[in-house]
Formats: sequence, structure tokens, C-alpha cells
Amino acid sequence: MAGSRDPAHPAAGLPALGIDIGGTKVAGGVVAPDGTVLATARRATPGSSVTETEDAIAAVVDVLARGHDGPLVGVGVGAAGWFDRTGDTVLFSPHLAWRHFALRKDLESRLQRPMWVGNDADAAAWAEYRYGAARGADLALMVTLGTGIGGGIVMDGRLQRGSHGVAGEWGHMRVVPDGRLCACGNRGCWEQYASGTALGQTAREVARSSPAAAALLLERVDGDPDRLTGEHVATAASDGDPLALELLAEVGSWLGQGIADLAAVLDPEVVVIGGGVSVLGEMVLGPARERLERALPGRGFRPGPRVVAARLGAQAGLVGAADLVRRAVVDGVL
Ligand SMILES: [Zn+2]
Repeated sequence: MAGSRDPAHPAAGLPALGIDIGGTKVAGGVVAPDGTVLATARRATPGSSVTETEDAIAAVVDVLARGHDGPLVGVGVGAAGWFDRTGDTVLFSPHLAWRHFALRKDLESRLQRPMWVGNDADAAAWAEYRYGAARGADLALMVTLGTGIGGGIVMDGRLQRGSHGVAGEWGHMRVVPDGRLCACGNRGCWEQYASGTALGQTAREVARSSPAAAALLLERVDGDPDRLTGEHVATAASDGDPLALELLAEVGSWLGQGIADLAAVLDPEVVVIGGGVSVLGEMVLGPARERLERALPGRGFRPGPRVVAARLGAQAGLVGAADLVRRAVVDGVL
């Protein structure tokens, strides 16, 4: 974004629409400049079809715009995918049908509104920097733990998207040589060990090899280890199941190791942990901090990052996307 900010620009004081596109739903909101969500709407995402996904986005925008009294700046869209640097083109999306697809142009001509389009974790990172746990940090990293791991970088007050738009995809750092197969085509990626999916996979492995130790978990799935998911483990851990707590601690430990590696590269002030798994809070973050303390390069002789829970929850993506389109309009880059 250009440096020609004009705080007196009329758009700076107006609400914007923010849209968050996940694998299963399109969630939207009208978002005020202070980050307050004034109204929300959602639709299911028919992920297999480009047209149907666009129809769902258009329906959410339509419902929100018709329900809002007064002008709106534009529409910010954060989606689970890799975008080029301009945000014009989706390069790849693991759960949706986009492949080298000109999403922004398509949506702009259909909705007739200024658009910001980009990665959902980038939008969430921006929201946490503007309104949440990373407020004011000079270098903040976001790690979203869900089905996989998403990431975002905010440095010197700007979202950093890299030379080609795909920076911060640290879910695909290789942490285990020849480890578990990943949807990106490689093996041993970080998200195969520290995510909701990883939690489920480890639970299934343990339940198959040591059914006696996993008896409490297996009770939840009628004794069928193949049906265990990360959510079962999360619920069991909240009920105090020692094995489930141990599995969460293992995910936390992998998380802490990955953060130590990120600290070696970027030396962030704060690392914000968001996404679905982050609702488990200290059960994951405690072990992550412990591992980070033991794994930080140069430990004892240098400060490390703070590791904190996200504050904006499931709405971070749409709140961030709304603010990013507002800023783009104010900066005159759209
Ligand atoms: Zn991968």
C-alpha cells in the first residue's frame, strides 16, 4: 500500500464489507473503522465450483449491503488460497476450485464495488495488528491453526506479502524429513504436525497402536479409531482425558519448535496464534512456550517473541479484509 495516507479522506470514516471464505462457508460482515462488526451474514461454500462460490459471495454482499443504511467503502475478501502480489489472481486454493483465476476482476465487475482480495491468514494478521493481540508491534507474525497452518506478516505497519504474494506460508516448512504427506505435494510439512488435522491423525495412530491407552478417546467413536478427529481430542482434553491433553501438548510442542525457527529468520516481537485450534488456549500455548524457550537459537543471550492468543476469534479474517479494502481506497491504490 502506498504511503500517501490521507486521514481526512471521506472513506476513512466509513464502514466496509469484509468477507471470509473458508472451505465450508462464506462469512461476511459490515465492519466499522474501529473494527466493530455491525452486522453479519453467511452462506455455505460450494467449493467444487468457481461460479457457485462467486454466487455465494455475491449473495452475502447483497444481504449485507441491503441491510446497511448509508455508504460502504468497498468489499475486502480473504480466502484460503495463495494469491499473487496484487491480489488479482488466485494462484491455488487447496479447498476451492480456483487455479490461476482472476478472482478480483471477476468480482469487481459483478459487484461494482472497490475490492481487496487476498489470503485469509494475511487478513487475520492485519486485524490482530490493527485491533487485537499484535496492536502496535513493529514486527508481528500470525500463525493460524485450523485444518492446516496459515500465516501472515505485518512489519513496520504494513502487511508483507512477499515478492510473489505468497509469503508466510510456513505451514509448509519441512520439519520432518520424509514425514507425513501434505496436500502441497511435499512430505513432513509443519502443518502435518501442528494443526487440527495433525491432532486427529496422531490420535488415530495412537488409538490403533495402543487401544488400551486410548480407551477414553475410543469410547467417543464406538471403538473405531478411524473415526477419531481433532475435535474429539479437543473435547476429551477439555474433559480432562490425560491422553488427549498429552496429544495437545505434542501439537503445542511442534508449534513452539516452528516458532523458534521463525524467530531465527524474522526475529518477531510477537507471534499471534489464531484459528480453530487456538480456542484450546493454554493447553496448546503453554507447551508451545516451553518448547520455544528450549529451542530458540541463541537462547539466554537474546530476547524471544511473545506468543499470545488471537483476540478477534473467528471474525479476524473478515475484520482484516474490510480494513484492508478501506485502506486501499484511502491510499488510492484501487
Ligand atoms: Zn505442505
